[in-house]
Amino acid sequence: MAMLEVRDIDLAYGPIRAVTGVSIRVEQGEVVAIVGANGAGKSTLLKSIAGLLPLSGGSIHFEDADISTLPAHRRVGAGIALSPEGRQVFPDQTVRDNLELGAWSRRLNVGDLAAAVEQKYTLFPRLRERQGQMAMTLSGGEQQMLAIARALMGAPRLLLLDEPSLGLAPLVIRDIFLTIRKLRAAGMTVLLVEQMANLALGIADRAYVLETGRVTLSGTGAELLQHPQVRAAYLGH
Ligand code: ATP
Repeated sequence: MAMLEVRDIDLAYGPIRAVTGVSIRVEQGEVVAIVGANGAGKSTLLKSIAGLLPLSGGSIHFEDADISTLPAHRRVGAGIALSPEGRQVFPDQTVRDNLELGAWSRRLNVGDLAAAVEQKYTLFPRLRERQGQMAMTLSGGEQQMLAIARALMGAPRLLLLDEPSLGLAPLVIRDIFLTIRKLRAAGMTVLLVEQMANLALGIADRAYVLETGRVTLSGTGAELLQHPQVRAAYLGH
């Protein structure tokens, strides 16, 4: 069985149906991408996996357990961490405090907490330089790095990344995607939501295209990069 199995889920905001009959799976060690236009339901899907939105139908399974109704904080404990869209770091806390807060679910002792923070500084050296700085004063790219590092502080086995490229300069985006590759090489499983389809499909082992709340195409990243419908709709050629 896959690490994550989303089975035929429906999600709605009151009367608005945002996701209809979506099924996806993520195998251990894969990077899986969800691509699609604005409003296709990508963030909604990710939030439901993190437990931030209730299902109106279907079910979600993680490592053989049905987590469909598990509260968000218990999903963190179960090994799922979300790096949310728009970063949402704690603005008036330092970089180091943001990281330490990311480990709340683990009840680490002081030494283990310091070691976990140190490991994140190795992955994102910029954060080490800025560890005493308030998060609100970081650049957009640094805040994105902090959001990912904070999610990793929960020691997840599945990392959910919502739009890591949003609002960032090309060189910074390249850095973020290099980091995703490093995480995969270190054994992390990643579910990535991304509007920049070329980048997402370039890194993804497999991917799903979401259109108005439904999966319309799926395949390997390489297959979808070549797919005429994907090229016309998302790659501009
Ligand atoms: P984007 O890339 O622009 O974030 P997305 O694919 O992530 O798009 P969602 O944010 O999941 O799309 O939105 C899916 C649909 O649900 C949209 O029609 C959106 O307007 C609607 N929606 C999202 N959040 C809410 C909300 N809190 N209340 C009502 N409708 C919402």
